[in-house]
Amino acid sequence: MVNSIRTTCAYCGVGCGIAATPTGGRAVTIRGDEAHPANSGRLCSKGTHLGETMGLEGRLLHPMIGDKRASWDKALDLVAKRFRETIARHGPDSVAFYVSGQLLTEDYYVANKLMKGFIGSANIDTNSRLCMSSAVAGHTRAFGEDIVPASYEDLDEADLIVLVGSNTAWCHPVVYQRIQAARAARGTKLVVIDPRRTETCEGADLHLAVRPGSDVALMNGLLAWMDQAGLLDTDFLRDRVNAPDGFWDAIRTGHDLWSTAKACDVPPAALQQFYELFAATSRTVTLFSQGVNQSIRGTDQVNAIINVHLATNRIGKPGAAPFSITGQPNAMGGREVGGLASTLAAHMDFAPEHVARVGRFWSAPNMATKPGLKAVDLFRAIGEGRIKALWVMATNPAVSLPDGNRVREALAACPFVVVSDVMATTDTTVHAHVRLPAAAWGEKDGTVTNSDRTVSRQRALLPLPGDAKPDWWIVTQVARRMGWQDTFAYDRPADIWREHARLTAYRNDGARLLNLQAQAAISNEAYDAMTPFRWGGTPFADGRFSTPDRKARLVPVKQMDLQAPLREWPMTLNTGRYRDQWHTMTRTGLSPKLARHREEPLVEVHPHDAAALGIADGDLARLSTPQGESLFRARISDGQRLGEVFTPIHWTDQQSSGGRTGLLPRPLVDPHSGQPGFKSTPVRVEKVVTEWKGFLILRGDEPARVPCLWMTRITVPGGALYEVAGNGDPARLDTCLPKGDRIEAVDATRGTRRVAMIRDGRLAGVLIVTRTGLLPSREWLIGQLAVESVGASVLAARGPGDQPDKGAVVCVCFDIGLNQIVAAIRDQGLVDVPAIGQAIGAGTNCGSCRPALANLIMQSSQETLRAAQ
Ligand code: SF4
Repeated sequence: MVNSIRTTCAYCGVGCGIAATPTGGRAVTIRGDEAHPANSGRLCSKGTHLGETMGLEGRLLHPMIGDKRASWDKALDLVAKRFRETIARHGPDSVAFYVSGQLLTEDYYVANKLMKGFIGSANIDTNSRLCMSSAVAGHTRAFGEDIVPASYEDLDEADLIVLVGSNTAWCHPVVYQRIQAARAARGTKLVVIDPRRTETCEGADLHLAVRPGSDVALMNGLLAWMDQAGLLDTDFLRDRVNAPDGFWDAIRTGHDLWSTAKACDVPPAALQQFYELFAATSRTVTLFSQGVNQSIRGTDQVNAIINVHLATNRIGKPGAAPFSITGQPNAMGGREVGGLASTLAAHMDFAPEHVARVGRFWSAPNMATKPGLKAVDLFRAIGEGRIKALWVMATNPAVSLPDGNRVREALAACPFVVVSDVMATTDTTVHAHVRLPAAAWGEKDGTVTNSDRTVSRQRALLPLPGDAKPDWWIVTQVARRMGWQDTFAYDRPADIWREHARLTAYRNDGARLLNLQAQAAISNEAYDAMTPFRWGGTPFADGRFSTPDRKARLVPVKQMDLQAPLREWPMTLNTGRYRDQWHTMTRTGLSPKLARHREEPLVEVHPHDAAALGIADGDLARLSTPQGESLFRARISDGQRLGEVFTPIHWTDQQSSGGRTGLLPRPLVDPHSGQPGFKSTPVRVEKVVTEWKGFLILRGDEPARVPCLWMTRITVPGGALYEVAGNGDPARLDTCLPKGDRIEAVDATRGTRRVAMIRDGRLAGVLIVTRTGLLPSREWLIGQLAVESVGASVLAARGPGDQPDKGAVVCVCFDIGLNQIVAAIRDQGLVDVPAIGQAIGAGTNCGSCRPALANLIMQSSQETLRAAQ
């Protein structure tokens, strides 16, 4: 591969390797790295289109104090001074860092060291708290250390894969492709346990659409069933596992098949099928994700899964493991350095001997001696005035935390807020007193650890733009200015990596599996050339765990009573991700292709609920909870359970006037992990009637303020597309149109108005609104942004010989829409996904859309069957 640089994807915890080739300016071509063990060359749609997100649109390029540009010296001096003064006046616990799984391990290490060893507080928490802290707590309870005892190779070698609370096809697409490859190669069975029927369920052997929050009942029921059938590994239990008194009595009471089926709201026969499949396959991987973790009983749910694996000895062997898969690219690296408020460093906690050991290693003057505030409590403390200086790094808590309106109030009231970010304007940076320009993906250097403990390098592809600096540099500069020049005197990320590796090995007599001794003396050259490696081997293969007596622990967990629907908030809100977007869209939102998969934030509603609420597909709907309300576009979906709705987490004030999922959930957390429960919020859903709807296409990337009830914005080639709806006179939208020669057409019968602004012969903007008519396809008009000379015919919104509307884009790689695929299946009699690929190309590149294609094939055959009956 000529001139390619091996790096790691910016997005999810799969941690795919990328071979990137800079091709001039900020252009970069992206390919999957065939040599990377996480993906062997595969990439999903997000990774494939990373090259579209390398531009400088919206970037924060200079330090800013308020709205004024400042030098680095001035900004860093101010941050150090305000933190120093706040600590002197109010003590170390009056300051906090809120960091991110987007940080590299080296960034994380120095931020954690500064807060826990030198400032003297453990008030550093991370957005990984929202993602997998229940898995951390569950692992620690069961194994004595936060160890993920699985690898991606286990998926290749399993006979049964159970996905619990994971829309793997969308959220970890390359893992899903790996599962599909294993199924094709060796007939691996697949069971999906998820309240929603997602694309992950396509082709699964079994889908259990369980009641949300009933995972403990399900797993306890499985354990009871295996026990009754005499299928537990009694030797392993006797020799390698501790069970507290009364554990088995509790399991043997009330967990019969019928009671469990009732608790989980699934048919007993389906439950039995799952249990029999599990019993028949000793090589079982149970892969779980946010559906398990993001619950106020997440840790118990994790331990319910681990209990089954321990009691049946499905752990520490090829193809047999509980497998927590992380959301973020470096959530695991953060866990390794202790980036959570509840851990110290290098898989140590706040036990006095650990504090003393780390303090000695760091020569730290002010060691924190107790855990700090976890994310939700931390922002509550800010709102209550207990935290007076906050530094947010690489994350957007104003959008992502639950009860988002209170989070914004807290940020607005905090006396001193620093944000290091890549973007100039986010829902969080608008509250910052100081903004520090951080290096973005493709500009920074360091390491990340993925979900299966594989450490990989992220490498710079492009020079740093403007005044941007890597996060490790920013943190260490502040630390030096706070008085700790020598202990933060690193010249390069490799210096920090070596120190981190030495700490993992320091007085580690085998008590902790995390031991990077082999990396402790790595040269700069070897660090630069580092190839991916997995630490920890096959954890627990020798039956020895990280507890004092080396035995694993069964943890008694009890299904909590599930809340009955409330009169005022009668439905249940579940939240999650879209296939082609990432977090708050600051990067993926720059890609016109990725935007086309889901252009607006949708609330998915079961058809019966929609009928009862008078909501039709495409209507607007208001979701209200005691925490706040937000609007969404309704999508009728029979994949939803009755009484439950689903919304995406991605939309912010920067892209939409509604769609803000984060403000809806309660700020309730798991008592062990502090992870918020995002998956089952009582909610009220109502139809919203608007008098008109339309869209606006504007040239350029300057966001417009559109004065209407509903507005969403996506990037398109050469500009932006706004979907709009509202009441009153839509003429006020004309204020959004740029200057130019105006042409206009009005159809008074339908209340339709079409306005185009043309400047220098080129389309500068177009607005089409209607009260009762249909709106034309946006495709052709978007294409007109690239045309040198347009005329009045642009108002027709359709060219001569124009193709019919291709529908929502399903295959982003080849820009193929739903209507085109449906037509191809129907007209060409296509019967499987490869046939679609052969006919029109869809699904033949990154493969992220293959589950959707399989779904369309299935729908088509059902329709054919119905027609034949
Ligand atoms: Fe990136 Fe997709 Fe791989 Fe995740 S699965 S690391 S988003 S390419």
